[in-house]
Amino acid sequence: MKYLSTRGGAVGYSFEDAVLEGLSPDGGLFIPESIPTLPADWAEAWANLPFADLATRILRLFIDESEIPTADLAALVAKSYRTFRHPEVTPVRPLGHPADRRWVLELFHGPTFAFKDVALQFLGNLFEYFLERRNQRDAAAHKEEGHLDPHFITVVGATSGDTGSAAIYGLRNKKNVQVFILHPKGRVSPIQEAQMTTVLDPNIHNLAVQGTFDDCQDIVKALFGNPAFRTKHHLGAINSINWARILAQTVYYFHSYFAVQRQLREQGHGPANLVYTVPSGNFGDVLAGFYAKQLGLPIQRLVVATNANDILDRFFTTGRYEKSTVTDAAAASAVSETLSPAMDILVSSNFERLLWYLARDYAATAGQAQSGNNNPSVQAGEMVRKWMDQFKTTGSFTVDASIHQVAQQTFGSVAVSDADTLDTIHRYYRPAGWNGATATDSSPKQQPQYLLDPHTAVGVKAAEVMATRHPDVYGPTSRSDAQGRLTYTICLSTAHPAKFSAAVTQALTHGDSSAETFQFDDVLPPEFVGLLEKPRRCIDVAPGTVEKVKETIEETLGPIETAQ
Ligand SMILES: *Cc1c(COP(=O)(O)O)cnc(C)c1O
Repeated sequence: MKYLSTRGGAVGYSFEDAVLEGLSPDGGLFIPESIPTLPADWAEAWANLPFADLATRILRLFIDESEIPTADLAALVAKSYRTFRHPEVTPVRPLGHPADRRWVLELFHGPTFAFKDVALQFLGNLFEYFLERRNQRDAAAHKEEGHLDPHFITVVGATSGDTGSAAIYGLRNKKNVQVFILHPKGRVSPIQEAQMTTVLDPNIHNLAVQGTFDDCQDIVKALFGNPAFRTKHHLGAINSINWARILAQTVYYFHSYFAVQRQLREQGHGPANLVYTVPSGNFGDVLAGFYAKQLGLPIQRLVVATNANDILDRFFTTGRYEKSTVTDAAAASAVSETLSPAMDILVSSNFERLLWYLARDYAATAGQAQSGNNNPSVQAGEMVRKWMDQFKTTGSFTVDASIHQVAQQTFGSVAVSDADTLDTIHRYYRPAGWNGATATDSSPKQQPQYLLDPHTAVGVKAAEVMATRHPDVYGPTSRSDAQGRLTYTICLSTAHPAKFSAAVTQALTHGDSSAETFQFDDVLPPEFVGLLEKPRRCIDVAPGTVEKVKETIEETLGPIETAQ
């Protein structure tokens, strides 16, 4: 399998190069040249595989045997998911009232308690594997020449919290990898700050930058935009545009599909139609669902759930991708700060990948007559490049009505307010009829039910909104398709509630006179106990400039590079 750029300027990349380079030189994102074919018996043969075995089979389809032999791939995958606390890695549970037919897919059992671990545990091992192999090959080829410059990468990334901690836990202690994570000083949650800065491995460097997350991101962009610096230190990116991250995330769509169908069968139900709701920011998580569907997993619909930063919901509703609808320039370039901060984005970096598929399908049918070149892949690259250029200069573009229609067949979308997020957390933790009983109360009706984190709550609310919008599909007895199957919704849970304790506490104390009975310590994972008091290592960066960060990175790397 080779990889090409969504903007048409690069083709024939190996998986290894696509992963190590992150972004294509033409500014596009790497995608596979084609969608592989599942083995004919996948639906039976894969149905009961443990997570790691299933992952090896799915990844195998996108990575040639000549790039990573199956035994190595299986070992990389096994190592990546051994760090998860749950034996099923990403378990499913029923959520709320059975008549609502909702499940939650828990993606937070990895080391940093957020879904990004699923991809970043694997990416860290992949980086180490490729770099070590390059070094061994060099050593074998140049035995007589003695000392060689080793292959290494310097990962530089900005974080508002979740990406940074997941990247740090994915890359800690990896050979030939140095990691610099910039976070806005004092503006990430206390747990997130502690998660990042208490990792003391010598290759991990936290930089606390005075400023906002956008300031951090601008600094990182400036460093990547400096060719001399970028080449000298072999800068590598871990943000969600990296193809390996998307690929790793397709696995839990398959895994949860099998798990829910199996559990329904065990309860005496027939096979179900499955809808997934996905709390979305950069469109990486839900894009993985799109690939699963492209592969042939029968997903009925993917619902994109956003917070007030709703560029995706606006696109799926109108067909217009527009940075902001306000005309005031300063307001237009500001992200709304919400209770689901990992989804606070202005534009969604992975959305470009979906655009490519929409453009290709369009080119393969209606668009053909319009261009001299009738290779749909080539035409798709041209269309995406034009859209992205227009987006850069004018802040928006609109797709053809037929393209919008095709997108709506696969995707639904809902934007959820902070008020609804709080209300949803509250309702699922304290079902109707809750009267101040404690967790030890034996009446099941009065038990606390399920504690949602604010990101997951956005997705669950979106599922409720979809049910109101389409009672024919989600209603109590609707069997909307020819086979008479019922539709069930799987809500992706992207973070553990304890990571966002402030929002959760606010939700549970909101307008509730018996608030004092909720004790956060009751739900605190043991890994978080004492975390805030552990020793930390973090470099403060004086306000202002890219130069300061550059100096800090070079001063830190200096002794390391000399030592090598
Ligand atoms: C990153 C993140 C998201 C958004 O995922 P995307 O792939 O960027 O759409 C949602 N919830 C949490 C908790 C996250 O960390």
